[in-house]
Amino acid sequence: MIVVKFGGTSVGDADAIDRAAAIVRERLPRQPMVVVSALGGATNALIAITQQASEGQLISAIRGVEALRDRHMEAAERLLKPGPGLHEVQAELGVTFDELAHLAEALSTLGHATARARDAIAAKGELLSSVLVVAAFRERGIPATWVDPTTVMITTDQFEKAEPRPDRIAEASQRLLRPLLAQGQVPVVGGYVGATDHGIVTTLGRGGSDYSASLFGAALGAEAIEIWTDVDGMLTADPRVVPSARLIDRIRFDEASELASFGAKVLHPSTISPAVRLGIPVWIFNSRKPQGTGTLITFEAPRRPVSAIAGKSGVTIVKVRSPRMLLQHGFLRSIFDIFDRHRTSVDVVATSEISVSVTIDDATHLDSLVVELSQLGDVSVERNRGIVALVGAGMGESSEAMAAALGALRELRVHMLSLSASAINLTMIVDGDQVSTAMGRLHHAFFPGDA
Ligand code: ADP
Ligand code: ASP
Ligand code: MG
Repeated sequence: MIVVKFGGTSVGDADAIDRAAAIVRERLPRQPMVVVSALGGATNALIAITQQASEGQLISAIRGVEALRDRHMEAAERLLKPGPGLHEVQAELGVTFDELAHLAEALSTLGHATARARDAIAAKGELLSSVLVVAAFRERGIPATWVDPTTVMITTDQFEKAEPRPDRIAEASQRLLRPLLAQGQVPVVGGYVGATDHGIVTTLGRGGSDYSASLFGAALGAEAIEIWTDVDGMLTADPRVVPSARLIDRIRFDEASELASFGAKVLHPSTISPAVRLGIPVWIFNSRKPQGTGTLITFEAPRRPVSAIAGKSGVTIVKVRSPRMLLQHGFLRSIFDIFDRHRTSVDVVATSEISVSVTIDDATHLDSLVVELSQLGDVSVERNRGIVALVGAGMGESSEAMAAALGALRELRVHMLSLSASAINLTMIVDGDQVSTAMGRLHHAFFPGDA
């Protein structure tokens, strides 16, 4: 069997869903299971609805619900022939929109939304898209069966970034999905969404449908996982930032994973790990160009000094300076324990004799982190930084890549620099507003010959 995942733009409207159906139909002999995202932009809209409602802006929130209702109803009308089938789907969608309107009212009365409530609302996007996709697929001759993600994607109760429980997911997938596949059915399940053991709805964090796809792929021992998106595959940089970025035909698992962690949004950063464990190849394809060759992520890809460049802004540097303590046994552990307790993951680390600098993406717990870290030394915080990362499995084989990178960035201020011990990535911390410039210059240096 294979897992076929369609992202937000790949199910964004009736035409896109139509193209998705053609892609799945072609794959029927390979026993596909389909994972879908919400319609492009729907998750953002749902998050805005929650926020507006809980801040008392009920009218805006309800307008948001109605706009989403119109969009889904219109897609249903364009996808399905008039008749009882269409009515049934519209009634089903309508129930969810009525429920959303009630939830918005409840939140505006409460004046507050918990993470659990935010997840319950955000998860509706995938519920709506999957209902639409199943009906459209069936009308196009694909034996699609809707599967409730809360029955198979079992997670912890860390709302908004729940951790999957692979053993439970494997057990539920074998019990609920395998028989459908065996009967020639195509299970269609919303990505991003899960539930705790007690059935309370959770989400895997933004962009999490890719992760759902690879978790199901691992649970069912898939032959391949296909991620269908709005670009030709994994490129040498984000084409929105570097328009001359080129397609990478094959890339190694570890490189793809690093790129995703450092901002290549085309894959959720956790997608690779379930696939790599079983060696399941991951493909990335463009749903607008189904005949494209895409990118294959696998163990056997050429070793290049630099395969691609990634970047992200909104990074915070936290520096702890402690002349007395640094060389003392256990000091670094004390620092990382503090980050761990505050559930804040650290991306890049640089140390000197007297200071430790780390970067974090998520500054939600910054205030309490600083209070605790201050017990270990003088703490300073630099906000609005950005990371650019050069990723290549062969980077460590010579110092040329590092020299060329620093040369390319010579007029920019580099606040921190780190070469991983495995020498697969070189990360540089720059000013947040310089990330695009830095990526452009690095791309020009490492992938010359383009515009
Ligand atoms: P989907 O909704 O299909 O999951 P996303 O928007 O999450 O799509 O991811 C696709 C986007 O990722 C692309 O439109 C592109 O702008 C961005 N992206 C960032 N880095 C890369 C890269 N190295 N290669 C390809 N796309 C990238
Ligand atoms: N719909 C979710 C989001 O927008 C998950 C995804 O698209 O992967 O974050
Ligand atoms: Mg995505």
